[in-house]
Amino acid sequence: MNLFGISKENAKKVKNKVLPKNIRLKDKQLWCPYCSCPVIFQKDKNLGTKRCPLCSISIRDYWVKKVNKL
Ligand SMILES: [Zn+2]
Repeated sequence: MNLFGISKENAKKVKNKVLPKNIRLKDKQLWCPYCSCPVIFQKDKNLGTKRCPLCSISIRDYWVKKVNKL
């Protein structure tokens, strides 16, 4: 298993490419397009970036950035 394989697999599972209009994110929350829920991205010391605590997608992921307008 490698990181590239994981991200490629996740890329197929994107459900919501936009933030649903009925969702209001709280402070520090971001929308995870892979989990389809609001999450607070947790800092990963090994990667030096933030990750979704549920699916471990990086905050640098294309769809995470796109959905959250990062
Ligand atoms: Zn997630």
